[in-house]
Amino acid sequence: MKRGLKLGKFELFWLSGGRFAIDGGAMFGVVPKVLWSKKYPCCDEENRVPLIASPILVKTPNTLALIDTGLGNKLDEKQKRIFRQQGGWDILKDLGSLDIKREDIDLVILTHYDFDHAGGVVMMVEGAGLALTFPNARHILQETEWQDVLNPNRRSVNTYWPINYELLKKSGNLELVSGEVEVVDGIKAIHTGGHTRGHQVVKMESAGQTALHMGDLLPTHAHFNPLWVTAYDNFPLDAIEIKKELESRGIKEGSWFTFYHDPFIQACRFDEEGDIVEEWKG
Ligand SMILES: [Zn+2]
Repeated sequence: MKRGLKLGKFELFWLSGGRFAIDGGAMFGVVPKVLWSKKYPCCDEENRVPLIASPILVKTPNTLALIDTGLGNKLDEKQKRIFRQQGGWDILKDLGSLDIKREDIDLVILTHYDFDHAGGVVMMVEGAGLALTFPNARHILQETEWQDVLNPNRRSVNTYWPINYELLKKSGNLELVSGEVEVVDGIKAIHTGGHTRGHQVVKMESAGQTALHMGDLLPTHAHFNPLWVTAYDNFPLDAIEIKKELESRGIKEGSWFTFYHDPFIQACRFDEEGDIVEEWKG
């Protein structure tokens, strides 16, 4: 049975959405390796750092919500090799251990549509072909992100894969939002841009406790410095500004910060200097 992080009346569980490894330089952008390797374990023989793609189940008194969906089960052998994927996409098994079926999920909030976040929106069901993984869930995405998914540029075409969105497009499950929206009681989607034009973050609040999920603006605990943005950010200067603002606000509120890509720490609280004062390993 998985352990959950209690947040007021909510409980947060990190699910196994895939383990992979990518180039450390890409993950830390312009930051020299001598600096980032003091904060994050470095590296295999090809300079790759270990990462996970970990969707978060947010259990509230009346909703089962997921933040992002992991790598999914549709990668072919070549893609698995390229991303050094080890460890499968086991989120349905993890949900099962909590007595939750995929049909029970009410809400999927997608921070953005990169394949490592949206790969689990559509799954391959043995003997039945492709299907929406969470057929009864509202799928929340920023309007601008969806526009870009449908009209990718030369770079984003490599990460917005039709196999991950065509079924969602045809279904009635997609709900586009703009700006800041309370999607259910205590859970807000907030547009940020920065990583992608339509990137959004998630703020959770219950009984005076808050958690902030900053998606790929804060992929691991080691990315706290606002200037430490990844080379994957499409709008790095925007990312730096919004990250700084969200972090200071979160720290003032005593908020938890939750991570999607961090295999070492799933959530933590920071002090004003960015030092970790409390951590959660789910
Ligand atoms: Zn990512």
